[in-house]
Amino acid sequence: MLDATPKKIADRKALRINPAKTCQPIGAIYAALGIHKCLPHSHGSQGCVSFHRMHLTRHFREPAMASTSSFTEGTSVFGGNANLREAIKNVFQVYKPDCLAIHTTCLSETIGDDVPGIIRNASDLIPEGKYVIHANTPSYVGSHITGFANMTKAMADYLAEKNLPGVSDRLNIIPGFVEPADIREIKRILNMFGIKYNLYPDTSDVMDAPQTGKYSFYPSGGAPIDMIKASGSAKATICMGPYSSMPAGIALDNKCGVELVSINVPVGIEATDRFIMKLLALTGRKTPPEEIINERGRLVDLMTDTNFQYQGKRVAIFGDPDMVIPMTDFIVSLGLIPVYCLTGTPGERFVNDIKRICEKVFPDVRVEAQADLFLLHQWLKNEKVDLIIGNTYGKYISRAEGIPLVRFGFPVLDRIAYPYFPNVGYQGAIRLLEKISTALLDKQDADALDEDLELVM
Ligand code: SF4
Repeated sequence: MLDATPKKIADRKALRINPAKTCQPIGAIYAALGIHKCLPHSHGSQGCVSFHRMHLTRHFREPAMASTSSFTEGTSVFGGNANLREAIKNVFQVYKPDCLAIHTTCLSETIGDDVPGIIRNASDLIPEGKYVIHANTPSYVGSHITGFANMTKAMADYLAEKNLPGVSDRLNIIPGFVEPADIREIKRILNMFGIKYNLYPDTSDVMDAPQTGKYSFYPSGGAPIDMIKASGSAKATICMGPYSSMPAGIALDNKCGVELVSINVPVGIEATDRFIMKLLALTGRKTPPEEIINERGRLVDLMTDTNFQYQGKRVAIFGDPDMVIPMTDFIVSLGLIPVYCLTGTPGERFVNDIKRICEKVFPDVRVEAQADLFLLHQWLKNEKVDLIIGNTYGKYISRAEGIPLVRFGFPVLDRIAYPYFPNVGYQGAIRLLEKISTALLDKQDADALDEDLELVM
């Protein structure tokens, strides 16, 4: 099919081919799973939630649980009020979550169900000490990233409490749509600093729960509700990623007056530097812990040792904006040239940020938000690059054009253990550098004539 992609680019306004995003509820479910003992609930038809759960399960290779309002033809005409009331009653009776996190689908949004109103009217069905939160996530706008952001904001809106005693020395961390291993790495860094924190959503030990031989419906991970409550009384919120985390940070500021600090997801050396500098500023420390300094030193050493392998290579990057932006920054710091940057998520900020990062090294960078992989493929047909960085959906373009693909972002459906290794921090940057280098060297090996095949590279 991709062999038929035409080189000539035509103006398209109302058609997406091979979208570089997926639907909002997928992000909302992933965020909700980051609360301990939370059951995500899809207010829509069974087909939607089957797709959402399957997509998450294929990436994480873990069951992604969620209940559904199970719409029928009748519900589609008369609305989902009765179904949602029934669902709230049944879910608390049968599955006993601490929190039910409801998101909408295209269908319930089109019907126009008043979900907050239904929740208010169902207060008699919610057991004492249990919570129901909600986010509107119609998929005809936004992407899985906006769905994630909306559900994370709902956590702050519904649960955060101002002026709780004994927790004002904590720092809030909203880590964004990242892997469980990323969250674990961020926590490791915070622990090295000795920082007390509220971190959510926290999908570590939920979507990468260890196999212990004992089944537990609710895995041990996830942010406890009390931690989310305490975030309204913290001294500041570090939001990682303007797209996935800022709405929650703004909500905490508006609702509880918690100072908002916005940074990129700490992917690569510069974004991690900025994260570490923010931690220093917020904690009043003069220098980072020695182990952090050493990790950075090892990354710089590796960058220096291997620079000749990738210097000047041309790269196309696509995926979620909060991951593509810092990855582009990292690519520039390595001496590679970002030629094409593309995201399926809407938002002008992406275009501006990428242009600012590239202005000194490649001002002609082609960048597009709310775009699709068909366009990326057309760009590549017109002018090739040496490397593609993006999720599994890039493999067809990679194969059609003979360009290596470094798998990065969501979803990675065709390689194992992606969620097990962090992309963030200096450790994550070392891993990314190894993957980029290896992809380029593998290509060099594959293309080399027998007499040119090098043993040492
Ligand atoms: S109908 Fe909407 S919410 Fe359901 S799977 Fe399709 S895009 Fe997603």
